[in-house]
Amino acid sequence: MRGFEIEELFICQCGDPSHQFIISADKETTEGACAFVSVHLNREHNVFKRIWTAIKYVFGTRCIYGDFDEVIINPNNADRLQKVVDFLKKHQE
Ligand SMILES: [Zn+2]
Repeated sequence: MRGFEIEELFICQCGDPSHQFIISADKETTEGACAFVSVHLNREHNVFKRIWTAIKYVFGTRCIYGDFDEVIINPNNADRLQKVVDFLKKHQE
């Protein structure tokens, strides 16, 4: 299996390995030349919080903005982010 032309792992500045995402980019995908952002979804370990989340889900109660978390990207990641931006610019139509 062929890998992606670009594949970069970003871990949050806070050091928590559950705060991370991967950007993969390739010119030969089913979508054409593009980049994919794969985000790690936090898993709640507290059973009561999971039950509360399930109850809210069943009754359709959600934050109007959806569920978000954050990854702090520090300046040391700029070059790797720029590599993805350069790839996308290179393949602009
Ligand atoms: Zn973090």
